[in-house]
Amino acid sequence: MQNPVIGHQQIIEQLQRTVASDRIAGAYLFVGPTGVGKETVARYFAQLIFCQQDTQPPTVCGRCLACRKVASGNHPDLQFIRPEGSLLRIGQIRELQKQIVYEPLEASRKVYILTDVERMNAEAENCLLKTLEEPPASSVLILLTSNIQVLLPTTRSRCQILQFHPMPTQELAAVLTDTFSVAPEQATTLAIAAGGAIGKAITQLEKGGALTEEVPEILKETDLLAAFRLAENFKDSPETLESLVTWYRDLLFLQQGAPLELITHIHSVEELQTLVPRYSHLRIQQAIQTVFDTKSLIENTNTNATLALEVMCLKLLK
Ligand SMILES: [Zn+2]
Repeated sequence: MQNPVIGHQQIIEQLQRTVASDRIAGAYLFVGPTGVGKETVARYFAQLIFCQQDTQPPTVCGRCLACRKVASGNHPDLQFIRPEGSLLRIGQIRELQKQIVYEPLEASRKVYILTDVERMNAEAENCLLKTLEEPPASSVLILLTSNIQVLLPTTRSRCQILQFHPMPTQELAAVLTDTFSVAPEQATTLAIAAGGAIGKAITQLEKGGALTEEVPEILKETDLLAAFRLAENFKDSPETLESLVTWYRDLLFLQQGAPLELITHIHSVEELQTLVPRYSHLRIQQAIQTVFDTKSLIENTNTNATLALEVMCLKLLK
């Protein structure tokens, strides 16, 4: 079977060598932006370990019972642990610790994939550290995170760290064209909007593409009182903050007379042109900074998100 993972070739080869030489570490930390493919590779790693077809280098056959069970989410030795609500909780870590001591049921090892581990509080992380210090020989923990900075140094040092990078725009655009039949000019737009993260591009495609989006109201609004209403919209879908930056970036490009290939929201370029005169270079730069700061504040601290978004909207409208 063809390697189902798109990109990350070096990481895949490294994991194949690891499995071939049976030098699988007790704990891994996969680091990289959201949607870049960490979870896909983690699942693939589990399949590499489980696959019953004995090949050199190890591959994933996709046909054996083990491969099929992983694909359908039914392998008893593979478990995903995801945040409940906004947090990965200490109760979930304790549950893992209870189970991990048992031998695997079908495979040579048990694999635990913990997603979004930056969302552990200190209590949960300290609890997990005990397992990272001495993981049972028959288990592998794969921690996934988009923000390694918030993890304790001791957590990081107990894991083998693999860094995941976004794909270059043209490479991702080619994948979108070849594999997902996206028209070439749309593929580039989508690849830029996704920041090279394939998962994001696919999500966007499933939502109907980045191409029918309307210019966000906050770019057009002039009334400060609208701030509170607009903040409410962002609260409902915080992921829009990232796309908001791409709109401001378009304004910046248009203001500087950059070539149209650089414009992400090319379908709205005429409307954006009409907005350019309202913005100074400094104001756009500050707007981008404000959105980044707010996003980081909400993701990495216990700030009241509603309040942070209201302050952000007020700043953007000024
Ligand atoms: Zn297989």
